[in-house]
Amino acid sequence: MDLDFTESDIQRYSRHILLKEVGATGQARLRAARVLIVGAGGLGSPLALYLAAAGVGTLGLVDHDALELSNLQRQVAHSTARIGMNKAESAAEALRALNPEVRLELHPRRMDAAAAMELIPRYDVVCDGTDNFPTRFLLGDACHLLGRPLVSAAVLRFEGQLSVFRAHEGAPHPCHRCLNPEMPPEGLVPTCAQAGVLGAVVGVMGTLQATEVLKLILGIGEGMSGRLLLWDALDMRFRIVKLRRDPACALCGERATIRDLSAHAGASPLVCAAP
Ligand SMILES: [Zn+2]
Repeated sequence: MDLDFTESDIQRYSRHILLKEVGATGQARLRAARVLIVGAGGLGSPLALYLAAAGVGTLGLVDHDALELSNLQRQVAHSTARIGMNKAESAAEALRALNPEVRLELHPRRMDAAAAMELIPRYDVVCDGTDNFPTRFLLGDACHLLGRPLVSAAVLRFEGQLSVFRAHEGAPHPCHRCLNPEMPPEGLVPTCAQAGVLGAVVGVMGTLQATEVLKLILGIGEGMSGRLLLWDALDMRFRIVKLRRDPACALCGERATIRDLSAHAGASPLVCAAP
């Protein structure tokens, strides 16, 4: 581990280095880490900002959408002046201004099966910041098959949920299909574009994702694998429910039938990359 920090690095990360759970070794671990963020929207904005501020060495950003005025109520990495710009590129401007030390790898493309196969193996941790089921299922399956942890969050109206999936490490870790075996039929669950969402709720959930990514890289604390956080902002109640690995799961079970991404062929633009 390269522990060689400049004077300005030591100042920039001094509040991390003070923490005995992080220290110089942890900060070096963050610098060596590569994190992929899929969706530079409402979840991806705080995620990318906090990971860049924290000194995560390399951030990959995937988003093929152009920034719209209606995004700015919650997608705080962007700005009014950048409406019309690709969202990965717009977010990159904010991240560079915040921490020019971070290497940014921009992927202004659709997250389809081919992109998943190509991009996911290049990163240590993947974050789901999308809000449509086809892309969520694609990421869940791809991360499991390619052996990468997935830090997942979802939001709608005043509610958020969060979990981490790392079933490729074996039992007792569950995968995303142990929780939701099949994609809900189209139209059953509304999107944020249909039902609305409180902007600050998205910010909290993206920030919780960033926290889980940092814990994973640092190897500290109690991870969220096998647990699902449910938050209702209206009554300000956080609940955690246990997730169990399902021996009959089609993805991680003993007789798994999902062995590649062929079911996702031709899948799924980021319909609303931005919850
Ligand atoms: Zn499973």
